[in-house]
Amino acid sequence: MMNWTHNGKEMLSHGDFTSDTVEGEDMKKCKKCRIEKDTRCFYRAKTNIDGMSGKCVVCTKGDNKNRFRTKKGVISRIYNSQLSVSRRRGHQLPSYTSRELYEWCMSTVEFHQIFNDWKSCGFRSELKPSIDRLDDYDGYHFGNIQILTWEENNQKNRDDTKSGKNKKKLKSIFQFNLDGDLIKMHDSIAIAGRETGANITHIVQNAQGNSNSCGGYLWRYTNDALAI
Ligand SMILES: [Zn+2]
Repeated sequence: MMNWTHNGKEMLSHGDFTSDTVEGEDMKKCKKCRIEKDTRCFYRAKTNIDGMSGKCVVCTKGDNKNRFRTKKGVISRIYNSQLSVSRRRGHQLPSYTSRELYEWCMSTVEFHQIFNDWKSCGFRSELKPSIDRLDDYDGYHFGNIQILTWEENNQKNRDDTKSGKNKKKLKSIFQFNLDGDLIKMHDSIAIAGRETGANITHIVQNAQGNSNSCGGYLWRYTNDALAI
């Protein structure tokens, strides 16, 4: 009886030769481009009978690229990266599911605008839709995210680091009723937004003196309602 080995690994006796094919010897026809290629041009796929993907690597990569160039694909990729970033940094995971993020993006004007610009510019990476956290110290939830292009998001991060704005955002915010009576001090604008349902961009505008009130309250960076 022959003892077949390849790379020092003994071959299985019941005819499973595929995972140990000698490199460069076998050919396989790609089901997509219909070109016959060396089996090294196919990813392994354990569930397939021959142990290889039906599509060649070039076609698989092309499919992946196109999938990420759809609204659904780009949002799912953003969501997965939010998950992995949160895990890596030990932060809270996004408060929404991938499906909920998709629905949220689809309901905004910005997402469609940015996506269409990205598409019409031939998918230039700097114009790709991206999700920014308004308060970098707070997690991913609908009260703390906005849609930007990659370029804008990166520029904002550079600016924030340079100006120390990141740290400023940690500053507490004071919530007053319209008579100027202090209701509560919140540890961050994002927390205040979450607790009161007020839009956090508008809270900032109010704290900067650019509006009369926000969400039915006055917002200040100090405990003096008259201070701007
Ligand atoms: Zn192919």
